[in-house]
Amino acid sequence: FTVTAHNRIEDRMYDEEFDYVVVASGHFSTPNVPYFEGVKTFNGRVLHAHDFRDALEFKGKDILIVGRSYSAEDIGSQCWKYGAKSVTTSYRSKPMGFNWPENFEERPLLTRLENRTAHFLDGSTKEVDALILCTGYQHHFPFLPDDLRLKTANRLWADSLYKGVIFDKNPQLFYIGMQDQFYTFNMFDVQAWWARDVMMGRITLPPEEELKANFDMWRAREETLEDAEQMIWYQGDYVKELLAETDYPNFDIEGTNRTFMEWEHHKAHNIMGFRDHAYRSLMTGNMSPTHHTPWVEALDDSMEEYLRN
Ligand SMILES: Cc1cc2nc3c(=O)[nH]c(=O)nc-3n(C[C@H](O)[C@H](O)[C@H](O)COP(=O)(O)OP(=O)(O)OC[C@H]3O[C@@H](n4cnc5c(N)ncnc54)[C@H](O)[C@@H]3O)c2cc1C
Repeated sequence: FTVTAHNRIEDRMYDEEFDYVVVASGHFSTPNVPYFEGVKTFNGRVLHAHDFRDALEFKGKDILIVGRSYSAEDIGSQCWKYGAKSVTTSYRSKPMGFNWPENFEERPLLTRLENRTAHFLDGSTKEVDALILCTGYQHHFPFLPDDLRLKTANRLWADSLYKGVIFDKNPQLFYIGMQDQFYTFNMFDVQAWWARDVMMGRITLPPEEELKANFDMWRAREETLEDAEQMIWYQGDYVKELLAETDYPNFDIEGTNRTFMEWEHHKAHNIMGFRDHAYRSLMTGNMSPTHHTPWVEALDDSMEEYLRN
């Protein structure tokens, strides 16, 4: 590969040749922004989750959030905690289904806006002051030529990646961390070990038909997944498959899955209280301390306050 880079200090462009390239540039930073009729004349605030900084901005306001994943849940909860008058989230497929507080509700998809009135798929309406699009991100690699560029939706088994990391059109190009995730850093770490071992010749890649069959097997199983619990076991099994082919240090996947499950259960039990729980690290065995103040009462997000004993 010829890689063209910019030396910012000397403000100079230069080329270098490499045998392998690893793309690890993330996929949660280029906003996916759907269009809603009337948004151009909506005279409240419109922003994507990517640009959300401080929930205090929305104190006393009626907030409409589009989306039903982590950003919607988290930004909605933050706005609620910092005094939004009401939080309405709008879902396309199914509601998050948590036991939300009184002034926090879920409605079917936003269909259009008319001045400050939001119209929803069930015919209901709501006056809102701000629209926050928690509508996800795009896999975006503007620095790559078309024939090397991964094109996939954000899913547990990404398109075009054998073993979840090798680009199917060029086995010397690796993508790390491109899946939708439960496992994050440990999965990336194991992927990195595996990719390193391929590059160093410690792992010999099987013939392409085998890689393709492996891809098809994971894709077929992905398509059967129905809930978070199944998704967690699925991703755990994928990490296990890579682990078995490297000398990565002992990593307790079952224990990690169970910790994820515990966290999911805490969320289902109390969506505004699950952050008050602490978990044991499966890598070090250390128990994490609980925070000194219940999350709903902790309004000072400064580092000093967070680390206060
Ligand atoms: C709001 C939010 C909350 C999250 N919370 C959690 C959480 O609580 N727990 C968890 O495990 N995960 C969480 N995640 C997911 C987690 O952040 C990501 O999975 C993780 O950061 C991805 O790591 P990464 O190294 O693949 O990518 P990133 O952390 O995105 O790093 C990619 C890096 O590549 C750089 N880069 C991009 N393009 C180029 C280029 N052309 N040249 C050079 N450098 C480039 C970027 O500047 C960046 O530094 C969260 C994500 C978001 C958006």
